[in-house]
Amino acid sequence: MNEPPAAPLPPAQPPVPPAAPPADCLRCPRLAAFRAGNRARHPDFHNAPVLSFGPLDARLLVVGLAPGLKGANATGRPFTGDYAGDLLYATLAKFGFTRGDYGARTDDGLALADARITNAVRCVPPENKPMGAEIRACRRYLEAEIAAMPRLAVILALGTIAHNSVLAALGRRRSAHPFGHGVVHPLPGGPALVASYHCSRYNTNTGRLTTEMFEAVFAAICTRLNET
Ligand code: SF4
Repeated sequence: MNEPPAAPLPPAQPPVPPAAPPADCLRCPRLAAFRAGNRARHPDFHNAPVLSFGPLDARLLVVGLAPGLKGANATGRPFTGDYAGDLLYATLAKFGFTRGDYGARTDDGLALADARITNAVRCVPPENKPMGAEIRACRRYLEAEIAAMPRLAVILALGTIAHNSVLAALGRRRSAHPFGHGVVHPLPGGPALVASYHCSRYNTNTGRLTTEMFEAVFAAICTRLNET
């Protein structure tokens, strides 16, 4: 007896975009007030929550701390326009995660390949220091981001705050997954969590993070992605 023909596969559905904060999100009163002040001081800046950048079907999610005042808060794209972005995008390019050239502007034509970038906190905080309540308030958007990435295999957390917020978003215990530069936490049943010092100018100026150290983290990520 002949086998019946296999039923045609349903067309692949594109990933559903995650819930993103509205431009006037008021969940963090201190940050909303800071945004308003920045709007008055820098009317040409973005001055709103910064949305994520990169395809949702990427296998790598990079999670930073928060927009920089004159970087992402000014341009409206994560890590775009300040020193941290220079190092992050150069490293992403070196390891094949970009298409086009990074020009520190949202209209530079740059695209990410198999990578997406977001922040633990979507609004710029005064002095780059979000408060605990603000990190918790914005976690709903990080959770939505992670849930909306169907092929997610590795999360790169830049700095301790991002690392701990990712752990909380994934429902994992901090004590079992301590932050350490270059440490890979496999997290069975979910994406691996890779930790790195933040690629800020402060960390590179003080020698805490060198280009070589940052590239070693990306080399480990690529090794991991090649195994999945
Ligand atoms: S940091 Fe997040 S939760 Fe807080 S106001 Fe901005 S977008 Fe809303």
